[in-house]
Amino acid sequence: MQTKFAKRVTTASRSFTRTILDLTAQSSIISFAGGLPDAALFPRENIEKHAKELFKTEDNRLFQYSNASGVEALKVEIAKKYVNTPSTQIMLTNGSQQGLDLVCKTFLDEKDCIIVEDPSYLAALGLFHMYNATIKAVPLSSKGVDTDVLEVLFRDYSPKFFYTIPIFQNPTGYSYTLENRHEVVRLAQKYNVILLEDSPYEALRYDGVQTKAFADLLPELTIALGTFSKTLAPDFRIGWMKAPQEIISALTLSKESTDLQNSKFFQHICAKMMQSGELQEHTKTLIAYYRPKRDAMVNALHELFGDSIEFVVPEGGMFIWVNFKKCADSMKLFDVAIKKGVAFVPGSVFFADKRVTSYGRLNYTNSSLEQIETGVKKLYEAYNKL
Ligand code: PMP
Repeated sequence: MQTKFAKRVTTASRSFTRTILDLTAQSSIISFAGGLPDAALFPRENIEKHAKELFKTEDNRLFQYSNASGVEALKVEIAKKYVNTPSTQIMLTNGSQQGLDLVCKTFLDEKDCIIVEDPSYLAALGLFHMYNATIKAVPLSSKGVDTDVLEVLFRDYSPKFFYTIPIFQNPTGYSYTLENRHEVVRLAQKYNVILLEDSPYEALRYDGVQTKAFADLLPELTIALGTFSKTLAPDFRIGWMKAPQEIISALTLSKESTDLQNSKFFQHICAKMMQSGELQEHTKTLIAYYRPKRDAMVNALHELFGDSIEFVVPEGGMFIWVNFKKCADSMKLFDVAIKKGVAFVPGSVFFADKRVTSYGRLNYTNSSLEQIETGVKKLYEAYNKL
């Protein structure tokens, strides 16, 4: 008997990254493939302290149903991240991944056009396919998007939104310059296109200075997504959206019909960690811990590969996007690298058209300094074997 799945499921491809994660979880392979934070750093003691406190101070209503938009104390803390933003313009989501889903649910009819960066976040591309969106891609460089192409796409396709990861992008680690952001803002205003700004890595800055978010440059046309997955812990599943009131109301309606609400218990812990300044302190610890890992990978790549590869040193986030110039198809390098005992993600999966590419994504946050050194050596051996 044939199971009558919806087309969106039968046409979805299994995530290649998931395959790699399964592969590397079971073996001694050094993995630069995932996008995971280092679990050794989850702030266990702070979490335990606030959880115990909650049991003392709250009665059983803590575990009761409540409203879909989230716990007020946490929304107030999140609102402070933006300029002049009341807590009513914030709503909680089960991770920013749910934020993406709710935006699709709220805005997309069949075949509606959306714009993505080329390359872009794999799980967002998969999601947009599931909503049967017409996906157009705009080239991304280390300074931002190609605004000439963006203008043509905005003009010709009237997209519902432009999905942008303007800071420490996944997979490239690139950030838009302020000039590039201003140009994107000008185009969004001219063609009335919503900017769907996804910034999960923004707090993990190792060098340079913070630039203004689209949420502050163009609040009336921006839906901003944020998350505590990279600063606190992914298991909390706490993300948020910041948008104009009318949009938040529509998104809240969508959230109600999806999962009613986030866990209040975790939201309270998160709020307490923000109110006390503990989360801000913890973020500094993360930065001090991840920066040497980034440097170790950058140095090892430079020393071993020299001019045979190209990459831009990321100022923050979790990834280095490497052009393995000698290898037109990085999938071939991946096959040899796995045999040598090291994994990364071949770049083609991040492009909307899945084109063959010489690029690959390397993660440095979830390996030790020693693993980074050994893993890059193995990768170099694989590169020379091609
Ligand atoms: N957006 C981007 C660009 C990401 O890299 C990730 C996580 N890898 C997410 C969204 C989802 O994060 P979460 O749902 O854990 O908040």
